[in-house]
Amino acid sequence: MRRDQWAALTWPGVLAVCVALRVYLGATDAPYLVMSIPYMAVSAITPVVVLIGILWHRPPHRAGWFLLFAAQVVYAIADGMTVVSNWLGDFLEPTPADVAYFLYYLLLSAAVLLFVRRRAPGWDIPSGVDALVVAISAGLLSWVYILQPLTADSELPLNAKLTQAAYPVLDLMVFILAIRLVMGTGTRGPVLYLLLGSMSLMFVVDTAYAVEGIADGSAVTESYLDAMWMTSLGMLGSAALHPGIRRFDQRSDTALPDASPARLAVLAVAVLMAPGVQFIQWLRGEPISVPLISAACAVMFLLVLARMSGLVAAQRRAAVTDSLTGLHTRRHFTHALAVECRRSSRTGHGVGLLVIDVDHFKRVNDGYGHPAGDRVLREVARRLTAGSRAGGAVARYGGEEFVVLAPHTGPGELMALAERLRTEVSGMPVDVGGELLAVTVSIGAAARTRPDPESLMRAADEALYAAKAAGRNRSVLSPPAPLAAGRSPAG
Ligand code: GH3
Ligand code: MG
Ligand code: MG
Repeated sequence: MRRDQWAALTWPGVLAVCVALRVYLGATDAPYLVMSIPYMAVSAITPVVVLIGILWHRPPHRAGWFLLFAAQVVYAIADGMTVVSNWLGDFLEPTPADVAYFLYYLLLSAAVLLFVRRRAPGWDIPSGVDALVVAISAGLLSWVYILQPLTADSELPLNAKLTQAAYPVLDLMVFILAIRLVMGTGTRGPVLYLLLGSMSLMFVVDTAYAVEGIADGSAVTESYLDAMWMTSLGMLGSAALHPGIRRFDQRSDTALPDASPARLAVLAVAVLMAPGVQFIQWLRGEPISVPLISAACAVMFLLVLARMSGLVAAQRRAAVTDSLTGLHTRRHFTHALAVECRRSSRTGHGVGLLVIDVDHFKRVNDGYGHPAGDRVLREVARRLTAGSRAGGAVARYGGEEFVVLAPHTGPGELMALAERLRTEVSGMPVDVGGELLAVTVSIGAAARTRPDPESLMRAADEALYAAKAAGRNRSVLSPPAPLAAGRSPAG
């Protein structure tokens, strides 16, 4: 077994022994200092474990991990100061330990923020909106159950109030950043889930600590709280020991921020929190802050609507965009053609249409493989787009057939456009992975005033068949008069 595999197994073992010892000592009447030894051991070893993880796995972007290491060093120092000050007696708040904890929160937040930015470059607005919904929900809980009782406690002096209120606010900040981290588009895997687990557990246990502190107004020395803090530290250490930290910075190629069931479940819980809190407060006969809960509900409704409209817009875009070439789809083209023909029937302007088919395309597929064929299609699409920029809209009609809709275009202009596109495609061979292929297209053109979509399409199609029959790599204009009945297309 490799040394990192040993370490990955030994660390949880060390942790389990320390947690068991702490719980055991909590059940005996051991003095406070003795009781603190197993906890302090885990707190002090965690930064060392993080450093070992960084040095062994050498992740490509180390800044975030070193910030995490610095955060844990400060955390261990703060824990040491807490033990000493609890042992010595009271300090004026904020104590030096409080200041050290605040610094820890800042370092930890900076580390997570750096991970968020690295894992999803750009703004990633959908994930941001989702994280904001969860943040508002968690913020509401924190306010109703921790901050409001704390600020309402009239016996507490201001400095103590501010110090104690800073913790839930900082916890909330870290929790929100953790949510932002998971909801982003980075790689999934044990490192992500261990970090999320560590930060969520820290949030839960800090909240429990605050609630217990409020409930009986005294310092808390419960074993279960220490055990949970230790587990949170252990998960953080395990994350750093995992080889997955090497690609933790990367964007995931599968996890797009969409409406996955897990994400919807998280959002559902978050959205139901505000009415839930209101209902529970009402059941217990506790005061309800109507403006606060109304505002939280209103903002969350708006965020959900914004997210929904984003999803609908993305679906609509996907429906009219061809995935291979990025051109418009046949569906979009059919709609645009109908609109243009209707407009022409009102104004009397000309509508031009080109139907473009790649010559002997089957030979490309047969001779060089389907992926090479796809490359040719993408390159032809690019050249058609470049060539028709000023004159018309290109769409992929299907297979290796393209169409160009050119409004306000007469026959002369349309043929000029067709020739420009034809030479644009055939002007340079296409590179299909080292091999250079000569690619040509045949083009059928039709220009009419007040056309109906079907007959315009049929006219251009017949002109295309004529171009193929005449030897390919050419443009043919459909005769201006309506086609005589009974004339059938060649092929
Ligand atoms: P012609 O000059 O008469 O047009 O000859 P051709 O070989 O191009 O004949 P045809 O239009 O019948 O061939 C179309 C071929 O295009 C058949 C199909 O396998 C291929 N094809 C259709 N869609 C795709 C695609 O998305 N990718 C690839 N690689 N091939 C496709
Ligand atoms: Mg063809
Ligand atoms: Mg074809």
